Amino acid sequence: MRLILLGPPGAGKGTQAARLRDGYGICQLSTGDMLRAAVAAGTPIGLKAKDIMERGDLVPDEVVVGIISERIDQPDCANGFILDGFPRTVAQAEALDRLLLEKGLALEAVIELSVDEAILIERIEKRARESADGPRADDNADALRKRVEVYRAQTEPLIAYYEELGLLRRVDGMADIDTVWSEIVDVLGSAPGRQTAAGGRA
Ligand code: AMP
Repeated sequence: MRLILLGPPGAGKGTQAARLRDGYGICQLSTGDMLRAAVAAGTPIGLKAKDIMERGDLVPDEVVVGIISERIDQPDCANGFILDGFPRTVAQAEALDRLLLEKGLALEAVIELSVDEAILIERIEKRARESADGPRADDNADALRKRVEVYRAQTEPLIAYYEELGLLRRVDGMADIDTVWSEIVDVLGSAPGRQTAAGGRA
């Protein structure tokens, strides 16, 4: 099963992506987590990404496309993957299409977690207050607001992109975590825990 989880910062993508990983035995590819690990390890990619991430801007497309391309080939992704935080621009989506075509793979669905923007900003500010000294350098209110703006300008066009490809499934991201999860399971139309190691259905 190969999925994309789409939605603005604060929509709950990370939580649902982890459930998808555990429920369907697929790997969770979060470019945000991978970039934070690169920053922490001080790798060349991390050094390049650090300031950009702290501002709430996007790191260059070729950097994230390179990371994803490598990870998709790892054995833990043999059953499929859930992309969380990637793609974030139309150029990334097009690069992903090419990459999957080359590897002979196809996307099953793109799940959009739709949220009410006013409530989202409220959630974001709460997260910023709670994590004033937290682990994420980009969790301050300015950077978070910037990330919502960047989402609107650069990532939201992907909704139409995937709608056109017939892949988009919309889920109400404002509901509580368990309700969002059961809606996701519904739109996927296949119960979790029923995938075989070979990637087929049990
Ligand atoms: P996230 O944890 O997904 O919110 O990502 C945190 C930050 O990492 C973002 O604000 C960007 O600076 C960077 N980032 C993560 N994924 C991408 C991506 N697909 N393209 C560009 N930048 C990204």
